[in-house]
Amino acid sequence: MRLRYWASLMVLLWLSCLPALVLAAPLDTVAKITGARWTRSVDATTGLIKVRLEVETTKPAEVESFITKLPNWRLIVTLKGTNIDKWTPGLSPDSVVVTQLSAVQSEQNARLVLDFPDEVKAGQYKVSTLAADSKAKRPNRVVIELERIVPVGNLKFLPGLKGKIVAIDPGHGGTDPGALGVRGSYEKKLNLDLSLLAKAKLEKAGAKVMMTRISDIDVAGAKSTDREELSARAQVGNRNNADVFISVHHNSSVNREATGTTTYFYAKTIFDGELARSLQNAMVRSGGLLDKGARTANFFVVKNTVMPAALLEVGFMSNPQEEQILNDPAFQDKIAQAIVDGLEQFFLQAAKMRGEQ
Ligand SMILES: [Zn+2]
Repeated sequence: MRLRYWASLMVLLWLSCLPALVLAAPLDTVAKITGARWTRSVDATTGLIKVRLEVETTKPAEVESFITKLPNWRLIVTLKGTNIDKWTPGLSPDSVVVTQLSAVQSEQNARLVLDFPDEVKAGQYKVSTLAADSKAKRPNRVVIELERIVPVGNLKFLPGLKGKIVAIDPGHGGTDPGALGVRGSYEKKLNLDLSLLAKAKLEKAGAKVMMTRISDIDVAGAKSTDREELSARAQVGNRNNADVFISVHHNSSVNREATGTTTYFYAKTIFDGELARSLQNAMVRSGGLLDKGARTANFFVVKNTVMPAALLEVGFMSNPQEEQILNDPAFQDKIAQAIVDGLEQFFLQAAKMRGEQ
């Protein structure tokens, strides 16, 4: 009786331990991603942009990485035996270097995918690991470093808006209505209304504003080609020696759910990205729409202007709720002010960038 009691107790104990043991083993051996963050730096002398992603793990991770060209240039980094617990890095800090980042769990492994705007050569990226540092209270890390050079040009900026020449291009106009809103608004009108509001505020702040149009017209004439039309707009900036060029647009998508603010730029100089980011941040901060980031694009007017240029897509006219917001005078006033604030921030930042020389 006594022996049997002990025996059954042992079996019970063994049984109760078993699931814990079975669970404990893999949990204990699996590393977890507990966070990730970006840093970015620009060297104004060389135009070298460096972007670094640090991914924190609970254990040292075994890492494999490779570059693929399909569907576009991307770096795939696999953290073996790692679970994604917390993923916190947010949008890419510089779309000239990396356009997008995603993390997916693939069985036992965590896989990080970084998309690039174009070809990436060996030497432009590096993947390494850092061991935990208890003194500095830093966990184990996987470090992805990326870099790219963008020409600096001969541009120089001082802080402040006083005396600055700002070219504003209200997109479309005349025979070209641009996007049509689901509730019936015209993009060409929204673009012009917002541009005129921004013009008044910028002039109040001491800037000189050159407009590509101040009424509902085709800038190069009704019979011009698309290229002539866009070229005429870029020339307004180029001929007037504008310090910056801002093209104002409103977005549209076949997907009615699409929402948010985007700013596009073409990295002709290191300042184009700064300009786009400053305007994007200011618009998102005061307008409150979804932040779709500052992104690179080949759009004619941002590419063919000699000064830093940005193309704003304030929000989606194809989204019924957003179209209503875009038509709200209070919202338009906020975005016009955001253009002023964003430019103020840009000139301050640009002056600092040159000051680092
Ligand atoms: Zn447009």
